[in-house]
Amino acid sequence: MQLPREVIVGNRVVERVAEVSRRLGFTQSALIVAGSKTYDIAGKTVRSLLEEGGVKVDTFLAESAAIKDVQAVEEKIKTLKPQVVFGVGGGTKIDVAKLSSAYQEIPFISVPTTASHDGIASPLSSVKGFEKPYSLMAQAPIAIIADTNIIMQAPWRYVISGCGDVIAKFTSVKDWRLAHEEKGEYYGDYAASLALMSAKLVMQDAELIKSREEEGLRVLLEALISCGVSMSIAGSSRPCSGSEHLFSHALDMIKPNHAMHGEKCGVGTIMMAYLHKADWKRIKKTLGMLGAPSNADELGVEKEDVIMALEMSSTIRPERYTILNKLNLKREDYERLAKTTSVI
Ligand SMILES: [Zn+2]
Repeated sequence: MQLPREVIVGNRVVERVAEVSRRLGFTQSALIVAGSKTYDIAGKTVRSLLEEGGVKVDTFLAESAAIKDVQAVEEKIKTLKPQVVFGVGGGTKIDVAKLSSAYQEIPFISVPTTASHDGIASPLSSVKGFEKPYSLMAQAPIAIIADTNIIMQAPWRYVISGCGDVIAKFTSVKDWRLAHEEKGEYYGDYAASLALMSAKLVMQDAELIKSREEEGLRVLLEALISCGVSMSIAGSSRPCSGSEHLFSHALDMIKPNHAMHGEKCGVGTIMMAYLHKADWKRIKKTLGMLGAPSNADELGVEKEDVIMALEMSSTIRPERYTILNKLNLKREDYERLAKTTSVI
């Protein structure tokens, strides 16, 4: 089990980056991986604070999250031999930093600039260019520094996406439980409970999150971090990624870059909750209240895309048993499902 040693969430906590780094023993050298925008937003602050503390800092600006970026950062790590890699960004830059540092066997610190998905704290990395559309095992961050002052400045849509990714745990945990009961798959109550609790808290505090106050953002960040930790405990993405994520991945393949990860997961959760005979109406209502997409139109996709994605969902990751494998539905059933839940 790899768990973060330091997690700091709050207003202006980025100012504590040098202190955290020192406490963890990184007093000599560091490599910052950021995008050009996130470098301006937070990367340069991290850099100057570390340099003030006497750390030699190099920067790598990644423009995407593809294998080539991971390899380029690995080359940098081989030449510069930094003690630690900082991933500063919304998601893709963190994924690049996480995977390259894991491959080069050095620690990684996560400095998220948005709260859009649970990858800010998970041991998994989602990078384009591998044959699989889902995440790969990398390593858990040794520290997470989530500055609410920085994250509050990101567009509201990122928060919405983060909420969708957390609410998704309602069905991912059910799918995991089902795989345990029907296929004898390993199931960890602790990891499952942690993921489920995060979803419950975000639902409960949806009004607070909607108010756009720091307190609400903190609830969301703590939920995302707890989800990341639950994956570290489980040793896989199982507690946090079930049929609703398969739907999101499928939709991604059909209509790439159409909506954010958590937005698609949110819509997937509505439909998968229906299949699990759970309270899908409450999920739909909460997403709607937060201003998150809850149907095809709001996701910016066609009705046919939704049906195709549902059909594809159970096939893209055959080893991950979910409610979709159990029910083995046909096209007309999927169409009915999407219509009954008013997704199409
Ligand atoms: Zn996710």
